[in-house]
Amino acid sequence: MRRSTVCQLKKCIKCGQLKDIADFGIARNYKSGVNNVCKKCSVEYQRELARRTPGYKEKRRQWWSNWYRKNKEKRRKYAKEYRETHREEVRKWGRRDYKKAVIRTQIRKAKMGGLETNWNYSDWEKLKEKFGYTCLMCGRKEPEIKLTVDHIVPIYCGGSNLLENIQPLCGQCNSSKGTRIINYLS
Ligand SMILES: [Zn+2]
Ligand SMILES: [Zn+2]
Repeated sequence: MRRSTVCQLKKCIKCGQLKDIADFGIARNYKSGVNNVCKKCSVEYQRELARRTPGYKEKRRQWWSNWYRKNKEKRRKYAKEYRETHREEVRKWGRRDYKKAVIRTQIRKAKMGGLETNWNYSDWEKLKEKFGYTCLMCGRKEPEIKLTVDHIVPIYCGGSNLLENIQPLCGQCNSSKGTRIINYLS
């Protein structure tokens, strides 16, 4: 049976409590759009850091803006040089490497967010193969669509990043599913 629920609770990875979505800060770099740590814990954490290092906030801001300024040109130049000297590879492998990098970034972010992860890029490829490279929601196949990693129970709702909580959905279905819990595997 397919379950469809709208999730309004989220588990804080710091205090472990299930809290209302409104109790979490906005984080644009997360897929869920909110922080993995509740507002209360994140305020406490910031305070703790500030207490330990005077001028911490100011220093951190300066460090990042310096880093960005220093590396912007360098990174841009390097990328341009690479494209020019590796034209053939870029053309031939660009797409595949890009897909791999997207998945790898996703895994790395999940790990950084404190989520236990038991799969890698090749497990993801195997999972897609198992389902015939088909989106489990709309039934369209790759390469017509591009399959994305969908969390059956969204991370947002305290779902895990373990392989058993993962299903392939196309980008369109993945975003229309939003924070609902729909399991296409069962
Ligand atoms: Zn918390
Ligand atoms: Zn789909």
